[in-house]
Amino acid sequence: DGPRPARRIRALDPDVVNKIAAGEIIVAPVHALKELIENAVDAGSTSLEILVKDGGLKLLQITDNGSGIQKEDLAILCERHTTSKISSFDDLASIGTYGFRGEALASISHIAHLTVTTKTKDSSLAWRAYYIDGRLAPPKPGQSAEPKGVAGRPGTQITVEDLFYSIPTRRRAFRSTADEFNKIIEMVGRYAIHCDGVGFTCKKAGESSNSLSIQAQATVNDRIRQIYGSAVANELISFDVSDSRWGFKADGFASNANYNIKKTTFLLFINHRSVESTVIKKALEQTYASFLPKGGHPFIYLNLAIDPARVDVNVHPTKREVHFLNEDEVVQEICKHIETKLAAVDTSRTFMAQT
Ligand code: ADP
Ligand code: MG
Repeated sequence: DGPRPARRIRALDPDVVNKIAAGEIIVAPVHALKELIENAVDAGSTSLEILVKDGGLKLLQITDNGSGIQKEDLAILCERHTTSKISSFDDLASIGTYGFRGEALASISHIAHLTVTTKTKDSSLAWRAYYIDGRLAPPKPGQSAEPKGVAGRPGTQITVEDLFYSIPTRRRAFRSTADEFNKIIEMVGRYAIHCDGVGFTCKKAGESSNSLSIQAQATVNDRIRQIYGSAVANELISFDVSDSRWGFKADGFASNANYNIKKTTFLLFINHRSVESTVIKKALEQTYASFLPKGGHPFIYLNLAIDPARVDVNVHPTKREVHFLNEDEVVQEICKHIETKLAAVDTSRTFMAQT
């Protein structure tokens, strides 16, 4: 017996590597959509139209009116690590845009059928290209893989079909397309509240009306009202706090002591990217505990801008987690500020009730 003989080590085929990476970055349809929304916003769009079929597993389509993509870039658009947003590692320290890895479109092209139709303002035609595994491919057997000139409006339309077709175990793991759609509409709502000056629609294929519709000129309060309802929109306090010592600026809207729900609604954006943070959420819930009845929770939309030099966005390819310097101090400052605001509203309420 004894130890078994060592196996030889071989390099994986790049297509296999890319497919593994894609499956890590895009776990559910909502993750693909988030990347596409961020790209559209990065391109300066003021209108985003989203169409979804079968919870995004059959179809995810997003149409924007942004800068478009130059025809000459279409050949490398979906290669891994191609980006117009950074050119050196140091650029990460001053990154002002959502994307930076050049991985989203590449990943999607390895796990879905991807069609890009795009027109810059200087081009007379829109160009349509179809991609498989990071490369231009013929849309149908026998057709050319070259981008095709078509009529179209300025901006970009990205069509993602049959997501996870190349990872059947993942594809089969989705039990409910309704659940996937709910995650999508939640994410679209988050960006619709955050992206001031940008109009959003989101529609299920085959339905006549939109599931979500926000006009470009709507205020943040209007946006919250349309998405989360008047009950919360009528009971919001706005806040605005900054501290140069810790290199942050935070603003947003939070519910006052007249409002509470069973579970906290926490919309967190760090440097304009929707992220999760249990640490910040817990601290805010703690702050509200003395203002709300037992079991009651707040609604909070927090827009946090951290000096890019203090942020490590490079924790994980999904960018769902972000770390920054003096996290505890920053969170404490924000909580203290919101607490003062809540106390002020609470005192005026008690005062009014007494007189
Ligand atoms: P990243 O966003 O990290 O650069 P992506 O794979 O998401 O990587 O996109 C690659 C490049 O494609 C972007 O840098 C951008 O130049 C271009 N691009 C993607 N989506 C759009 C869009 N909707 N409008 C204009 N350009 C886009
Ligand atoms: Mg991107």
